[in-house]
Amino acid sequence: MSATVVEIVKSKNLKQKPNDDKLGFGKYFTDHMFVMDYTSEKGWIQPKITPYEPISLDPAAVIFHYGQTVFEGMKAYRTSDNKILLFRPDENFKRLNMSSERLAMPPVNEEEVLEYLKQLINVEKDWVPTAEGTSLYIRPFIIATEAFLGLAASKQYKLVMILSPVGSYYTGGIKPVSIKVEEHYTRAVRGGTGMAKTAGNYCATFNAQTKATSEGFTQVLWLDAIEKKYVEEVGTSNAFFKVNGEVITPELSGSILPGITRKSVIEMLKDWGVPVTERKVSIEEIFQYHKEGTLEEVFSTGTAAVISSIGELEWNGQKITVNNNKIGDLSQKLYDTLTGIQTGKIADPYNWTTEVK
Ligand SMILES: *Cc1c(COP(=O)(O)O)cnc(C)c1O
Repeated sequence: MSATVVEIVKSKNLKQKPNDDKLGFGKYFTDHMFVMDYTSEKGWIQPKITPYEPISLDPAAVIFHYGQTVFEGMKAYRTSDNKILLFRPDENFKRLNMSSERLAMPPVNEEEVLEYLKQLINVEKDWVPTAEGTSLYIRPFIIATEAFLGLAASKQYKLVMILSPVGSYYTGGIKPVSIKVEEHYTRAVRGGTGMAKTAGNYCATFNAQTKATSEGFTQVLWLDAIEKKYVEEVGTSNAFFKVNGEVITPELSGSILPGITRKSVIEMLKDWGVPVTERKVSIEEIFQYHKEGTLEEVFSTGTAAVISSIGELEWNGQKITVNNNKIGDLSQKLYDTLTGIQTGKIADPYNWTTEVK
């Protein structure tokens, strides 16, 4: 690895850090951020770490009008012996480039950007929280900055990485959540942008999400856009069903986001000898398994909550309860093992973690 040294401009007035029990999600940001610009003539230039500050853009910048942007979400964890670990960060930058390709945006050098991120985290080391279940959430994103209203891919971009200390999702154990199957709205369609982490996919879910929350559900489960039949995702996490000892998850169809937690769960299940199948699975089939008494566990996976247990599902006027609304043994084992590896509490047999030094 070539030593990629970034210009660092230190902030003159450091913020007061919030208490670990007040963190929540995405509310607090650290003192510095990483910024790098792109022009079609020069490529990616001027990587630097600067004080955390507003970004100034031309009102005609492409991002404001046509939403040309991609993002990532990952976490850094503090271990009990005060090391800082990243979980499969290479996968995040690989996916960032995959998202960029879909949005006609230029790729970054994955190894170099990971080095820049490590330098940023090093500057912000003290911001990695220590309490059980907390972490430093990392949000890399790229925005199209060219001032041009013509309908064409921007010739200029900005890559920014910001850091946010986040709290524990679970205090007092994992409580299963209640999910509504969304029958009207669609999140993504094959051939669209569903497999990319791009802004439009997310704002398109806000109305359905708001409605579900007001009806007492935590999240919506999205069905495929064409037949309104097959399970796609749960909110912004990947869905898993344990049926008669076998784990089933929707196959990556082009409209499903390829989660890194999803991939890790599949790899662990295979390693443990638990049968796991990636295939199309209809919501009707799931309700049928419940009727037959073979639906054992339902959970979803993502960086934010790692494993979410699903205790209730409502579809088509019917509500089912899974595993007496308690977290299942396999869901719990996956959660304990993944978070154990992420925080260095247990050995990492898969070489998934990278230390920030
Ligand atoms: C980010 C995301 C996921 C989860 O991906 P992870 O890499 O596991 O965090 C799942 N679905 C959607 C729509 C997402 O945006």
